[in-house]
Amino acid sequence: MLTIALSKGRILDQTLPLLKCAGIDIAKKELNSRKLILNTNIDDVKVIIIRATDVPVFVQHGAADIGIAGKDVLLEHGAAGLFELLDLKISQCKLMVAAESKDNLKQQTLKIATKYVNCTKQYFEKRGQQIEIIKLYGSMELAPKVGLAHCIVDLVDTGNTLKANGLMPLENITDISSRLVVNIASFRTKNAQIKKWVSNIESQI
Ligand code: AMP
Repeated sequence: MLTIALSKGRILDQTLPLLKCAGIDIAKKELNSRKLILNTNIDDVKVIIIRATDVPVFVQHGAADIGIAGKDVLLEHGAAGLFELLDLKISQCKLMVAAESKDNLKQQTLKIATKYVNCTKQYFEKRGQQIEIIKLYGSMELAPKVGLAHCIVDLVDTGNTLKANGLMPLENITDISSRLVVNIASFRTKNAQIKKWVSNIESQI
């Protein structure tokens, strides 16, 4: 049995057609059910659809053999127990620093609202900027408006969310896209099966 963990939300809309083209199809009935482990058209392939941040955790511990998650989530998690095999080139966006203006970044201690604590620390540490991180789980764009932070670090796609909230994209920390990861032990024990599906998926990117 091969278990594939998929991220809920906007990545899923682009992941399902990719998997379908690669030969793994999940019936609408399965997707609309409340089941947590979904059958596919392939007898020995099951799919679980979970929160994006949980995908690397499931794969790291071998609860899923393969996972599909954003590079943002993988960078925050770290690479422990995982091989990143493919850049799927879907759900592309940028992890950016944004503020009301460039001047807002000129602080002795820069207060940053983000859910990307590790990426943010690494980015600002490299240039020796002192920071204070305010960890939020959503609506980061609100933080500068209400004086909670000088700037935010968040994903930017069209830039419309920033614009609608009076913020400017200022610095690109890194380009993001969805990646396919595998559990290191599974890669050894289920090598032929994993390689077959990875190659099918790769041919459809
Ligand atoms: P946008 O207004 O198109 O720049 O999108 C920004 C909003 O969508 C922010 O709240 C982001 O956190 C979220 N977002 C953008 N791209 C992605 C992505 N690839 N995966 C998850 N969330 C995203």
